[in-house]
Amino acid sequence: MSMADFYMWLPRITTLLFIGAFGASVGSLTNVLVYRLPRGLGVVTPASRCPSCETKLTWRENIPIFGWLILRGRCRFCQSKISPEYPIVEALMAMLFMGFYALWYVVPADVPFWGSIKPEWALTDEGMAFAYQTWPAFAILLALVASLVAMTIVDAKTYTIPLVLAWVPLGLGILGHTGHALWFELHHGAMTQTAPGLWITPDRTRWISEIGWQWTITTPAGDGWRWIGAALGGVVGLIVANALVAFGLIRRSFADYDEWEAKALAERQVETPGDAAKVVEGACKTSKQGENDESAADLWIQYPHARREMVKELAFLAPVVGLAIVGAWVLNPAGGPLAQTGVAPLWLTVLSGTLLGAFAGGGVVWAVRILGSLAFGKEAMGLGDVHLMAAVGACLGWIDPVLAFFGAAFVGVAWALLGALLGGKLRRAMPYGPFLAIATLMVVLGKPWIEVLLGRLTGASGPLHLP
Ligand SMILES: [Zn+2]
Repeated sequence: MSMADFYMWLPRITTLLFIGAFGASVGSLTNVLVYRLPRGLGVVTPASRCPSCETKLTWRENIPIFGWLILRGRCRFCQSKISPEYPIVEALMAMLFMGFYALWYVVPADVPFWGSIKPEWALTDEGMAFAYQTWPAFAILLALVASLVAMTIVDAKTYTIPLVLAWVPLGLGILGHTGHALWFELHHGAMTQTAPGLWITPDRTRWISEIGWQWTITTPAGDGWRWIGAALGGVVGLIVANALVAFGLIRRSFADYDEWEAKALAERQVETPGDAAKVVEGACKTSKQGENDESAADLWIQYPHARREMVKELAFLAPVVGLAIVGAWVLNPAGGPLAQTGVAPLWLTVLSGTLLGAFAGGGVVWAVRILGSLAFGKEAMGLGDVHLMAAVGACLGWIDPVLAFFGAAFVGVAWALLGALLGGKLRRAMPYGPFLAIATLMVVLGKPWIEVLLGRLTGASGPLHLP
């Protein structure tokens, strides 16, 4: 390695290590969220402590991964074991963050296999990474990955997804992409396309994107006013629907579920007095994980009014769909009352892209939830899954969550086969959230092969171009 090579690689390696340390810290935060959110505890206070004797951890013991190693997995004070889950989650997050950074910005595009995984917007230009230009999109991706890991762990343990874990990447995706687009156009001027996938601003700043697309995620074309109108109309519809719920004009679905569950559990207690203590523990959701939660889970599919509740959810969705259609008509360039022609500002195009992504991701899960519940009479997929995929759509655009939704079914089948082969702990029923999360990561990392596959399936002359 020559001196010049060394100076070229040094900043990248330093950044990679920094990203790894950052990932481990996010893993540490994930551990805190996974432990505290389902228990309704605060996130910032109280300070981290031993779950058995409540001795506070010192700053050294709080260091991700190494803290656990220093303690050798036992509390310094009471010697009780500290779960290896903590350092494992921290190491996993560090590896995911470093892996994405390496694939996106360090591995050159001409390296076989590994170089082809990165999206076009992370391509390097004459050895210069575009990282400085596209880091907001990358940061949004990392935030989504971290949330997906956290949602997976909580969902697998408790069969619920704390919605705040979905709202954070949802908000970041919408505001982050839009803010980035606004900043970009203010600083560099409007982009014009000079070659497929290559855009140039008046100050000659280059912006590389997937062929046919203008941003790092799917967006309507700059003159796609119908889609922009639909996105904005849908948001107004969502506000209206939530207002109707707040004023009691639409009833919240599954509002009587807790009441029904308590009654059903009480009846069970009478039926099987021996198991009574176990069942009650499961109901409180404070017990250790495992059998108890499964009994709560199989109770949940016995709730008899799932069909009736779907009517309430359809009523909630009616203003969203209705106003999206109205929005598309109002801005419609061909004769809408507020007909728009010409190119929309980039921030509005990108904002619409994030919103349409969220609607598509949440919508596909919600549609299957409603159809499945109506068909089988028991609740199919949770509203947590709807929020999860809405977050994926806001961060990555509409294509990824739709692909991931269908891919999740295959992940579920693979999991069931693995359980049948290996038996034991893997055999327990899994909620759908972890499958959705794993499928999302597979879509993000498997884009080049998905593009080839979809190209063949649709009869295109080559791979499709997906951002
Ligand atoms: Zn202790």
